[in-house]
Formats: sequence, structure tokens, C-alpha cells
Amino acid sequence: MPSQALVMLNRPSAEMPPHDPYAAPHRFADPAVPQLSVLDLGATRGDGIFETLSVGFGRPQAFEHHLRRFASSAASLDLPAPDLAAWRGAVLAAIAALEPADEAWAKIVMTRGIEGAHSPTGWVYAAHSSDFTRERSEGVAVVLLDRGYRHDVESTSPWLLAGAKTLSYAINRAAFREAARRGADDVVFVSSDGYLLEGPSSTLVYRRGDTLYSPGTGLGILDGTTLANVFRFAREHALGTAFELGGPDALRTADTAWLVSSVRLVAPIRSVDGAGLHVDREFTAALNAWLRVLAE
Ligand code: PLP
Repeated sequence: MPSQALVMLNRPSAEMPPHDPYAAPHRFADPAVPQLSVLDLGATRGDGIFETLSVGFGRPQAFEHHLRRFASSAASLDLPAPDLAAWRGAVLAAIAALEPADEAWAKIVMTRGIEGAHSPTGWVYAAHSSDFTRERSEGVAVVLLDRGYRHDVESTSPWLLAGAKTLSYAINRAAFREAARRGADDVVFVSSDGYLLEGPSSTLVYRRGDTLYSPGTGLGILDGTTLANVFRFAREHALGTAFELGGPDALRTADTAWLVSSVRLVAPIRSVDGAGLHVDREFTAALNAWLRVLAE
């Protein structure tokens, strides 16, 4: 069995034109062979949405939360609503085709499709995960970078799509390169009016006393699926959880902090702009162990 699999959806949205009701909902394709038209708006304009899920021991994690966020991103972009039953089936098929592994991931993508065709393109690509042992144990050095938007951008300027998971990640990748230029591994974005936001591919969590804090939604950032589970773990361990609109000092003076996301899971922050931050190895290891085997 292979370490990667590709499933193309024949009908990513039920809002597409009438089709043969007996047609298969998806088909396997060769990931080594090009599958996308050069006219696809996902390729030419980054006009589409995606989700990346962790797959732990063959099970998709936070599956329904990811699908909810996928549907919400589609609504933000005025894309046809994804047919969630079709996507569920395609994800499970892609995962089942993989050689069993402790950790894998699945990326689901829906683009606006070929220009003028009014028919979205959708696929699921699944593969074995890389080894994140070092990031999870030693942690990551982060730099604070200006996001260039105010913290209320989501309500003042919804056309900027802040808070939707769109395919336009060139800025997120550029932020990682800027971090590398500054000798760091990762980034925490700060709004132009001085509030902590999120990483380019992760959610910020920090601990003060017996409570875990995160910037929360409504700030033009993603509603993190890993965060939801991290907060669940905290509550099961008698810790408080809260959303906080905080500035950089809330992070700099935290007892400890993490960047959390699907696939890499929980990476402790070991420094902020070069200033060291305490890494709680034991708590982080317990949290990652719990997330790795999560069944939902
Ligand atoms: N924020 C951004 C911008 C992301 O791209 C991601 C994930 O890729 C996250 C947060 C974390 O989300 P999740 O925990 O659902 O993977």
C-alpha cells in the first residue's frame, strides 16, 4: 500500500448541475500525474478553500470541526456549499488507501473550478506525516510580525476573507521566510493595532497560572480545531480556559506558550524575538500523546 493517495471528487457540491445519480461520488487518481486544468481558478487566482486534518492511527481527527470550517470558508467566498457527505466519504477512502501509519494527514481542497464553468473542483490528498519530534519537544523560536490589519478586520472588511481558510497562502509562506531571515522557526502575527493573533499555520495558546488563554475568534483568525481539543484536555486536567484580547506582553510574560495545529500538533514556544520562554516539556508531551490518539 502506498504512503500517499489522491481522491478526486466527482461532485464536490450538491449545488452543481444535474448529474447521473448512479455516478460514483469520487475516483482514485495517480498523485504523480497532473490532474488540474491550467484554467482552474484555484491555480490561477488561489480562489478556493482547504483544510488539513490530522489522521491518527487511521482515524481523521476533529473531522466534523474541519468540515464545519470548510463549509464556513466556502460561504465566506460565495462558493457553492460543499456536499459534506461526499467529502466525508472521499476523506475516508483516501485514508483507507494509505499504508497504516501512526500519523498521517489529509488535505481537502475545493476551488472555484474552471473559469466560466460554474463547477467547483475538489480533491483529497492524504499522506504519511513527517517526524515532528524535535519541534514538539525542543520547541520553536518565534518572531512577532505585523499582520497589517486591525484586530476587527473581519467585521470591518469581510471581503479581505480574514478568518476563512483560503488557498491564498503565499503571504503565510512569506512570513515563514521572514522568520527564517530573522533566525527563527515560526511566527506570531500581531494586528496593526497591537493585539496577538495567530501563527501563519497555527493557533497561539499561552498559560498564565492555572488557565490556558488563546486570542479567540472574531479577530480575522481561524477557529482552530486543535485549539478546541487543547482546551478540552485542559478542562479534563482541572485547568481553566479563556479567550483573551492581549498584546505581545501577554505572550512575553506567559508562564509557557505553544503554537498548536493539525499535523504538527503542539509545539512549545521557546523564545519570542530572541527572549527565552519556559518550555514545559512534561505537560507538552502529555498533551501531544493525548492528541495523537484522539478518536474524534
Ligand atoms: N491558523 C492558521 C492561519 C492555520 O493555517 C491553521 C492550520 O493550518 C491554524 C490556525 C490551526 O488550525 P487547526 O488547529 O485547525 O489545524
